[in-house]
Amino acid sequence: MTLQACGGEGTPTEQVSQSDTTASDDDQFEYFAEQFADLKIIRYQIPGWDKLTAKQKEYVYYLYEAGLAGRDIIWDQNYRHNIAIRKALETIITNYSGDKTSEDWNNFMIYAKRVFFSNGIHHHYSMSKITPNFTQEYFSTLLEESRGSALNEEALKAMFDPSFDAKKVNLDPDKGLVKGSAVNFYSPDLTEAEVDAYYAKVIDKNDPEPISYGLNSMLMRNSQGEIEEFVYKSGGLYGSAIDKIIYWLEKASGVTENQPQADALKILIEYFRTGDLKKWDEYNIAWVGATEGDIDYIQGFVEVYNDPKGYTGSYESIIEINDFDASERMKMLMDNVQWFEDNSSIMDEHKKKNVVGVTYKVVNTAGEAGDASPSTPIGVNLPNANWIRSKHGSKSVSLGNIVHAYDKSGGKGFAEEFIRTEELRARSKEYSTLAGKLHTALHEVVGHASGQLNPGVGTPKETLKSYASTLEEGRADLVALYFLLDPKMVELGLMPSLEVGKAEYDSYIRNGMMLQLRRLEPGEVIEEAHMRNRQMVAAWCYEKGMADKVIEKKVIDGKTYFEVNDYEKLRGLFGELLREIQRIKSEGDYNAGRALVENYGVQVDADLHAEVLKRAEKLNSAPYGGFINPKLVPVMEGGKMVDVKVEYPSDFLEQMLDYGANHSFLAAH
Ligand SMILES: [Zn+2]
Repeated sequence: MTLQACGGEGTPTEQVSQSDTTASDDDQFEYFAEQFADLKIIRYQIPGWDKLTAKQKEYVYYLYEAGLAGRDIIWDQNYRHNIAIRKALETIITNYSGDKTSEDWNNFMIYAKRVFFSNGIHHHYSMSKITPNFTQEYFSTLLEESRGSALNEEALKAMFDPSFDAKKVNLDPDKGLVKGSAVNFYSPDLTEAEVDAYYAKVIDKNDPEPISYGLNSMLMRNSQGEIEEFVYKSGGLYGSAIDKIIYWLEKASGVTENQPQADALKILIEYFRTGDLKKWDEYNIAWVGATEGDIDYIQGFVEVYNDPKGYTGSYESIIEINDFDASERMKMLMDNVQWFEDNSSIMDEHKKKNVVGVTYKVVNTAGEAGDASPSTPIGVNLPNANWIRSKHGSKSVSLGNIVHAYDKSGGKGFAEEFIRTEELRARSKEYSTLAGKLHTALHEVVGHASGQLNPGVGTPKETLKSYASTLEEGRADLVALYFLLDPKMVELGLMPSLEVGKAEYDSYIRNGMMLQLRRLEPGEVIEEAHMRNRQMVAAWCYEKGMADKVIEKKVIDGKTYFEVNDYEKLRGLFGELLREIQRIKSEGDYNAGRALVENYGVQVDADLHAEVLKRAEKLNSAPYGGFINPKLVPVMEGGKMVDVKVEYPSDFLEQMLDYGANHSFLAAH
């Protein structure tokens, strides 16, 4: 399963930060690369790279090469003509020497970049075909003058006839899930009924530990007219790319950090050789068990979202390095979790005597490929097979440097627009990154672990029903907010001063009172649990502190701002609301929980909403983000890899052309 960034500025915490500089380690790094159509291209760094040993870097490097070696697979999986079309685009961009100032050329380049971004001619998110704003004649002229080989008729039709293979994945049953989807998991002549009949025949429904049927194959009619699975494996479908993957994985298996990693890799290689799905399960069990070390990865045919029938996995690769800073933060909170529980504002009877922090893992990606790039998830939880998860466990990670890069790229202009004074902007700029990270860590490690139910009270799902998750997220946020202004945080060395906590208070109130409304269409109320809890917390504190002007609404030149006047009093209000929500949870008080959410978390101030939409719109930030990957460059000495350098390319198109030229192992067909 993957966790996706939300649309728009797209970070889970929605910091308003500035994209240019911060006072921290990454003050010189430019996160934003470019924007076109509805897409924003972002760069990211690999923090902690220098903490790895040369051998660890070598391990990462081989995994990264293995990931890239399969890049062509996702192009072919997404649509059968994608590789041919991409090669034509690459040829034109590389060779064309004619007029590059015309509107046609400009439109051609935008089209090409959109196709690169989506790994094919269908939009990565909406699944609809990307429309070229130039004619077929213009395209043919470009291709001819670039000495490219002509595309076949059907590929041209796919590019220029909007109704032909219009959707990558169609989930409208009236159009046929298989026939209506352009994705290349089923040959075009197959119907859904035939696919269903095939799987009904092969799936053993009584197997308590079933293989992931169809995960690594394409269904086609063979020469006898029967339906057959053509398996992705060495010597099979995508064999030439898979052989390259195996080549790099074998190198990786020689430089793992420990034996369990090596054992898992050997099974994975065996799986790519044979295509045997029993091996895939065996591999996943070994992978879940390999928990030691700083380096991990996802590699193979994994998520089935692109298959309208949910069988076949899209190729992806994500290389992960432990986030050392986040691990340190987490350990510090874990070591002190009982102190936080004892010093919380909740009633003594609701405090746990022996609280255990929640483990969550933050990693930094060193490179992504296939379906995970350029558009990427921000978190992943695998494996997908339910029986493996319940019997052997799973791994859940948050991609820290990706979340950070989204955050840093997102707010271009936002701070200027939504933060009123230079002083507040300066504090946000200096501390919002650390504040956001500490908020998340406190929320996850301490917040969700805190508090206990009264004896005999059912689970929140039973007692608080549809309000359970909003109240639980609100409760965890409040634990974080309450302690973010506690001197203990400074004492523990987690923050340099309480200014960090104040920056978080500013941003939480600003977001909860107004900024998050830009995600809603006019006329909508708030439905999503996190959005509800943020408004509930902010609006409750605004109302309760109104007499003392704890939070003040200011309207200046037609622009509304919510500003905190008294941070200590606001902390007191956070504590009070935390105590009440914990009481609601501990006692299972449905009516009180419902009243809180309905009165503070759901309704939208229509005028304020319209104002926020108008102010956000003029900032013109693309709704979808994707990433330029770092480039890993080995340093060789006497035939031995002694180091690996990281380069951070800044040109999206250049990276796409580099991948096409140097990491392409499938022929067009
Ligand atoms: Zn949570």
